[in-house]
Amino acid sequence: MGQTILVSGEIAEDLTYYYATSEQTPSSVALGVLMNKDNTVRQAGGFIIQLMPGASEEIITKLEMKLGEIQSVTSLMDVGNTPEMILEHILGEFGLEIGEKIPTSFYCNCTKERVEKAIISIGREEISQMIADGKPIEVNCHFCGKNYEFTVAELEDMLAKATH
Ligand SMILES: [Zn+2]
Repeated sequence: MGQTILVSGEIAEDLTYYYATSEQTPSSVALGVLMNKDNTVRQAGGFIIQLMPGASEEIITKLEMKLGEIQSVTSLMDVGNTPEMILEHILGEFGLEIGEKIPTSFYCNCTKERVEKAIISIGREEISQMIADGKPIEVNCHFCGKNYEFTVAELEDMLAKATH
């Protein structure tokens, strides 16, 4: 997993930008969340459509027209459209085939090793400072809030691995 600058703060726009720059894949990303008055989530969903290499101008033009016509994903979901129906709506005329369905769930793939790599990447100077402080450090994962602790000895190992 790489890191990229969040440009707009809107996840859909940022993903579009990410795919265009980091992966060089033209993509259309639509995401939406609709809240209830009591602040619970009423609907949440979205889609990412990516062009296969070699997609023709004709297909691109048609797809752009179709994407320009559709309502927001939240309104599509709110009137009872399933993800399959939304895809059919956008891609039906292109010969849509549903290849695989995967249930979604929130999970974080952080591990102590990944956090360690992140610390190593911040560089020798910062790590040396932490070692000089002489105390174990605690690092919280920004995504899931999980807490990782590193001892001074572990920090010294990381310092040895840091390249800059
Ligand atoms: Zn995490």
